Amino acid sequence: MRCSGPRTRRKAWRRSSRSGRAIGRDTDMARVGFIGLGNMGGGMAANLAKAGHDVRAFDLSAEALAKAEAAGCLPVASAAEACDGAEAIVTMLPAGTHVAQVYTESVFGAAPPSAILIDCSTIDVATARQVAEAAQAKGLAAVDAPVSGGIAAAAAGTLTFMVGGTPAAFDRAQPYLATMGKAVIHAGTNGAGQAAKICNNMILGSTMVATCEAFALAAKLGLEAQAFYDIASVSSGQSWSMTSYCPMPGVGPDTPADHDYQGGFATALMLKDLRLAVAAAEDAGAPVPMGAKARELYEALADAGEGGRDFSAMLPFLASRQAR
Ligand code: NAD
Repeated sequence: MRCSGPRTRRKAWRRSSRSGRAIGRDTDMARVGFIGLGNMGGGMAANLAKAGHDVRAFDLSAEALAKAEAAGCLPVASAAEACDGAEAIVTMLPAGTHVAQVYTESVFGAAPPSAILIDCSTIDVATARQVAEAAQAKGLAAVDAPVSGGIAAAAAGTLTFMVGGTPAAFDRAQPYLATMGKAVIHAGTNGAGQAAKICNNMILGSTMVATCEAFALAAKLGLEAQAFYDIASVSSGQSWSMTSYCPMPGVGPDTPADHDYQGGFATALMLKDLRLAVAAAEDAGAPVPMGAKARELYEALADAGEGGRDFSAMLPFLASRQAR
């Protein structure tokens, strides 16, 4: 029989947002260790707590810990403490070095043998495979489960998870991931989730650049942005970058372009994903000329001081480089 999910009857401890006192209550839940409560992890941990799980949360940032506490998690003093007695351990950290360090220094020593390790960070395929192998050598089951969807989807519990690991490990991780997302897809063996993530984002980076340069050229040729959108969004130039995340302000759905390119998916994160994709392609001997060009352009955008703005800020950047 396939795994039925993380259901353990146990007492949960939450803090009252009014009194700050710990309140105990009985409910069906699992104890979940959550490490990395940033833009994405904060919302994800909150959704696990909202679903009734007993979330032991850790981050290096006191501010992130305070937000997690207000969202119903129990803040703890270390990553090892978050793992103590946990049935599932979720990590949502910036990059592969952080994941390898947290796993080696804290998770492997503190996780119960029955725990399922779920890394949701976007990291390189090689590190994802190394930490999974190290986990398996210690008798622990691990999956890589990077996400598609930004901060809003993390908060709303509508992420898409692409999961690498054995079928048995996938079945154990699935109920926790389903609490935080709208789709949980088994991509293959360990590392396959990360492979899917970087290939997907290589398409996204390339189509965003293409959409931005088309809008900039259209303007230069005297074409109204709205007219171009109306045509391209129902023609063969259509893509997610055009119709769901239009980089031209005032056109299409409400996007970061309508908010001076604030919020959304930071240029620095897109650059990180494109670097991972191009490095993986080099290792594999696979030509990715479009992905490499997109990486080069996002490097230029980040070098221009735009690393913190949404990645659709490629449009004003390209427009500013046009000959007058
Ligand atoms: P973030 O920088 O906001 O959060 C990372 C958190 O990890 C920070 O709060 C930091 O203090 C914490 N941290 C770092 N080292 C730690 C350690 N040793 N122990 C405990 N905590 C530690 O980043 P984010 O935007 O939440 O992204 C997290 C991951 O999700 C990244 O891998 C990113 O590529 C991926 N991702 C982000 C988005 C997005 O839109 N932001 C979308 C999809 C995927």
